[in-house]
Amino acid sequence: MRIAHRLAALSLAALLLGSAPLAAQSDLPELGDAAGAGLSLGTERRIGQEIMNEIRLREPSYLDDPEIEAYLNQLGGRLVAASPDPGLGFYFFPLLDPMINAFAMFGGYIGVNSGLILAVQNESELAGVLAHEIAHVTQRHLARIIEKQKQISTASLLAMAAALLAARSNADVAGAAVAGASAGAAQAQLGFSRDFEREADRIGFQILDKAGFDVRGMSTFFERLQRATRSYENNAPVYLRTHPLNIERISDMQNREVAAPYRQVPDSLDFHLVRARLQAMRGTPAEAERYFRTLLAEQKAARVEAAQYGLAVALARQKHWREAEQVLAELRGARVAAPMIERLYAEARVNRGDVTGGLALLKESVGRFPDAIALVYGYAELLLQAGRPDEAQRFLDQQLQRRPQDDRLYLLLAKAHAARGRVAQQHRALAEAYWLRGQLPAAIEQLEIAQKAKGADFYELSAIDARLRQLKRRQQEEAKRK
Ligand SMILES: [Zn+2]
Repeated sequence: MRIAHRLAALSLAALLLGSAPLAAQSDLPELGDAAGAGLSLGTERRIGQEIMNEIRLREPSYLDDPEIEAYLNQLGGRLVAASPDPGLGFYFFPLLDPMINAFAMFGGYIGVNSGLILAVQNESELAGVLAHEIAHVTQRHLARIIEKQKQISTASLLAMAAALLAARSNADVAGAAVAGASAGAAQAQLGFSRDFEREADRIGFQILDKAGFDVRGMSTFFERLQRATRSYENNAPVYLRTHPLNIERISDMQNREVAAPYRQVPDSLDFHLVRARLQAMRGTPAEAERYFRTLLAEQKAARVEAAQYGLAVALARQKHWREAEQVLAELRGARVAAPMIERLYAEARVNRGDVTGGLALLKESVGRFPDAIALVYGYAELLLQAGRPDEAQRFLDQQLQRRPQDDRLYLLLAKAHAARGRVAQQHRALAEAYWLRGQLPAAIEQLEIAQKAKGADFYELSAIDARLRQLKRRQQEEAKRK
């Protein structure tokens, strides 16, 4: 069974994300016969985590951008808090993919394509699509699909997850994944059923309303999406294949809206900044620069501040730091305050040579926006870039007291230790990052490397030993449970 499972994990990786062999050690739980017993939340989470790790490692469209990710999690978090199950853990992540799509995976992992973020006309529309996905998760639709199967194997489950994920942008890959599944289970389940869609709409509507967004955001967007499918050239069909849309669904949405009071909800500045940032990543940097210059010259920007920020991102992509700094200084002069602007401004200053000024500015911003996690990463990165790993390490240790679950902070801490030549501490920090991402064998491996590395003092070594014993015990417990 273990071997069969390994093969399944391997083919998942191969089908999903190219044919490279699976490097990360797979550590999925055995499922056995899930029918009756049901798919536990813990198992669901582990599967989600595993797929997420694969995405981080191999999916070329995965967008490792803490600012956009932070925005999605802030917006998503606000919606989750208004959902029927606010305690359920969620994780939203961006993909740089022009297809209009968002998809929920096992365990509350929700992928959001840049194509969707750029296609919506306001923040309530984006919130509407996310609320619908959140509802699929809180109502445990994926788990319920699984439970309908008489006999469920890990292989078919993973194949289904792969199919769902692959379906996000490429129909052919999805088809291949389904064809490759050993059980026929995946075939029929590529999309959610109409009942599940209706339920996700209904719950999604309640979430949207309770979170304070314009509930009309849901129908206006879906209606536009449906209209768009009539034209040949569009990016909509993938989403519609996994979330079948029909006239009834839209009229149901509209019926619910009639009863809701009119509510005008202004978009947040971050919403516009994130859109500008994504827009500035499209095409060549010079094309992006031209796009924003034209937009500003013709006064066609929905939000001038966002267009200016987009221009600065395009300039930064070309390493035109001085110009980028100028554009951002103008924005700041007009008292436009946002963590995304502060971070890029500091980065521009450091890169054009004012290291002290840029760092001081970012440090001050971290204090002013204590919840803006991307500023924290940005400050640590700039300290490392400026050759100040001691300061970076102290800062990261301090931040980890507040955010002990943050894997990115541990990755940065590992870099800081590496720059200081502290190999044992470097691997210790890596172990924590792996542990937080659910990669127990990799975490143990890092601690074993840390044990053998030179340079650790007695206390550090005993801390490493203790942590290693703890994680090994955990591994034994999990092995027993299987
Ligand atoms: Zn749906």
